[in-house]
Amino acid sequence: MSKPAFLPHDHNHQRCIDAALAEARAICQRKHSRLTPQREQVLRLIWQEHRPIGAYELLDKLREEGLKAAPPTVYRALEFLQENGLIHRIESLNAYTGCSHPSEPHASQFLVCQQCQRVAELGSEQIAEQLSEQARRAGFASAHQTVEIRGTCAECLRHFHV
Ligand SMILES: [Zn+2]
Ligand SMILES: [Zn+2]
Ligand SMILES: [Zn+2]
Repeated sequence: MSKPAFLPHDHNHQRCIDAALAEARAICQRKHSRLTPQREQVLRLIWQEHRPIGAYELLDKLREEGLKAAPPTVYRALEFLQENGLIHRIESLNAYTGCSHPSEPHASQFLVCQQCQRVAELGSEQIAEQLSEQARRAGFASAHQTVEIRGTCAECLRHFHV
């Protein structure tokens, strides 16, 4: 995996959205997973920013777009998107972010910027293996890893001199 992508604050984000949606459609077609218009709408809303979004904020946005969505609908869509590797849940924020490379299986570690609230994926298999190995040595069978690192992204370091 390439280095974590905290893009410049003024990057052309429409291109991120378009690419993510096109890739999602291709993945779902390949897997025969049904990316319904509503699921796609949820994915598009998640991709509106690189900042993760919570389920209730999503619900508000769906309602703004004129959809009478109930929480179970949103949760089912989120579940579908997660199962298909299109989004990740950021545990420490209880929010969801679009996966930046859903076509390749990858380990999940996340960098969370406390200034701009954006998240980037580290995705290091090496770190994941080392953590599992340490857990195994402690006689522990790990099922799932959550690694979220808080700090300041390179862009914010440059702009805010924090
Ligand atoms: Zn973007
Ligand atoms: Zn990912
Ligand atoms: Zn930042």
